[in-house]
Amino acid sequence: MVHFVGAGPGAEDLITLRGAKLLEEADQVIYAGSLVNPALLDRCKKDCRILNSAEMTLEEVIAAIENAEAQDLMTVRLHTGDPSLYGAIREQTDSLDTLHIPYDVTPGVSSFCAAAASLHAEYTLPGLSQTLILTRMAGRTPVPERERLEKLAEHGASMALFLSAGMLDEVQDALLRGVYTENTPAAIVYKASWPEEKTLRCTVGTLAKTAEVAGITRTALVLVGDFLSADYKRSRLYAPDFSTGYRKGTDAK
Ligand code: SAH
Repeated sequence: MVHFVGAGPGAEDLITLRGAKLLEEADQVIYAGSLVNPALLDRCKKDCRILNSAEMTLEEVIAAIENAEAQDLMTVRLHTGDPSLYGAIREQTDSLDTLHIPYDVTPGVSSFCAAAASLHAEYTLPGLSQTLILTRMAGRTPVPERERLEKLAEHGASMALFLSAGMLDEVQDALLRGVYTENTPAAIVYKASWPEEKTLRCTVGTLAKTAEVAGITRTALVLVGDFLSADYKRSRLYAPDFSTGYRKGTDAK
């Protein structure tokens, strides 16, 4: 059996209880070494076989899993954050389907959640934005034409950009071609939840400069939108004059 596990954003105690238990039971762990905190591997059994997928091809990963299955050993495939975002798990699960190898997936805390937590921010603020766009800038690997950043920037929604910290000149240009302005609030969160985390608040117009001064080119999320400003409306859900299924408000007849 193979368990795909979300390792969380970095901090050792931000893996789920289920994920931690699976790591403790694993006979083999294949972890995404570029981003997963290696301290998580301290949970593994002494004789657990540990492989770093950053140095492997898809074929090598599948071969290692097949090999373990042949010996009836359990594999944890450890991905950073939540496996469903830029995790390249689909090509693995499809290969396992073909080989009739059973698997399941344990979700993880994505870095976009950890970044908001570090900033004490809420992506969905009444009157400002009720939508969060998770995306990335086209780089060495493309993004479908209809999802080009300048097109998504036409919505003015809250945005979390993955895999883009090394291309902030291009990011700025694309955002400014949408409805964001030079003064739209932005933030760069480097290694959210790791001990070496850095949070830098800036604006769309100063994104590239801010990253350059701080020497950040990778392992960072770029957050953009008015949700980072101080100006929003109170939620209706907790307003005294708003009744809900659980609470009678002063508006009740
Ligand atoms: N599945 C992961 C994303 C993997 S893609 C998740 O759910 O978070 C890798 C990109 O994620 C990095 O380039 C960076 O943009 C972002 N990232 C991952 N961990 C991060 C962290 N702790 N802090 C900031 N950004 C992070």
